[in-house]
Amino acid sequence: MDTMTKTKRVYNFGAGPCTLPLEALEEAQKELVSFKGAGMSIIEMSHRSKEYDAIHQETLALLKEIYGAPADFDVLIVQGGATLQFSMLPMNLLAPDKKGAYVVSGTWAKKALKDAQIYANAYTAWDGKSENYTRMPSTNELKLEEGTRYLHITSNETIGGIRFTDFPDVNVPMVADMSSDFMSRAIPWEKFDVVYGGAQKNLGPAGAAIVFIRKSVLEHTNKNVGAYLRYDIHSEKESLYNTPPVFTIHMINLVLKWVKSIGGLAAIEKRAEKRAAILYNYIDASNGYYNCPVNKANRSMMNIVFRLPSEELEAKFIAESKVAGFIGLKGHRSVGGCRASCYNALPIEGVEALVSFMDTFKKAN
Ligand SMILES: *Cc1c(COP(=O)(O)O)cnc(C)c1O
Repeated sequence: MDTMTKTKRVYNFGAGPCTLPLEALEEAQKELVSFKGAGMSIIEMSHRSKEYDAIHQETLALLKEIYGAPADFDVLIVQGGATLQFSMLPMNLLAPDKKGAYVVSGTWAKKALKDAQIYANAYTAWDGKSENYTRMPSTNELKLEEGTRYLHITSNETIGGIRFTDFPDVNVPMVADMSSDFMSRAIPWEKFDVVYGGAQKNLGPAGAAIVFIRKSVLEHTNKNVGAYLRYDIHSEKESLYNTPPVFTIHMINLVLKWVKSIGGLAAIEKRAEKRAAILYNYIDASNGYYNCPVNKANRSMMNIVFRLPSEELEAKFIAESKVAGFIGLKGHRSVGGCRASCYNALPIEGVEALVSFMDTFKKAN
């Protein structure tokens, strides 16, 4: 079925909020005015109603099931995006005698470290600045100090277009900001105490962060912060301590059902690999006309960055791509260039069409 022409949708390569499955959008549209015959929308209903509670509990269960989280992990839905987690994490996990180690791999990692340093003792375990944040470190490059509670990593740097292809092997638990490759690949849960990400890159609209946390960690979190900032309270109340972002959660629910319907995490991962291979193979075969500036071993599957021979050509490329129906290809303002963000719901055909456009552009310019 050609979903593009049916609804006149564009291919959205934006870095976030992201493209969502058409099936999920249409389902939400159908139910928006009257949810399953209730005579009102899910966003008008009490978050204590049985209709909403069913969605809420199902969403929590689907998150764990699809991501393959072990039984000793709890999943929380917290407002404030991934950005609030930059503060909540050290507030909850770093006792005064403990330190947080941070891999500074780009813009997002830097922000995470900066916020942690407001509340706690946090330090840089590795910094990719001298190489312009074009790669991730190997385990033996990490400098961990005595008394380190966790190593914080950013699994995928959305702006730089790099990822940890293999996760570090360290003798402290890791915590990870996985915002931009959330639920796009299988992860080694045994290495992590906390895994978090904003919903709007791979899972739904903005308005929530999903936090996976090891249950044994919850027993030792700091109780001396405001209620909303406490992981243990969100856990105890099953993410219903206060009014949750019901529409965001409803959309995440529909997206997760779509993920399941196409074959779950394994299918999602295969799709991501296929999309990335199509784009990187084309870029590599373009005789340098298109050029990916990052270390090959750390190339992101989600945010594919590339340059053209000049900034003038890049501006022309971005302008013409927009007219052709490819949205969001401009690189982040801090680094320039182009970036094709290929989140979970982006169809393979979107990438095939983009490569065909890139080839036409190359021949004409
Ligand atoms: C987008 C992004 C964030 C910020 O997410 P918000 O939900 O907007 O706070 C943090 N980290 C990474 C890696 C991101 O891609």
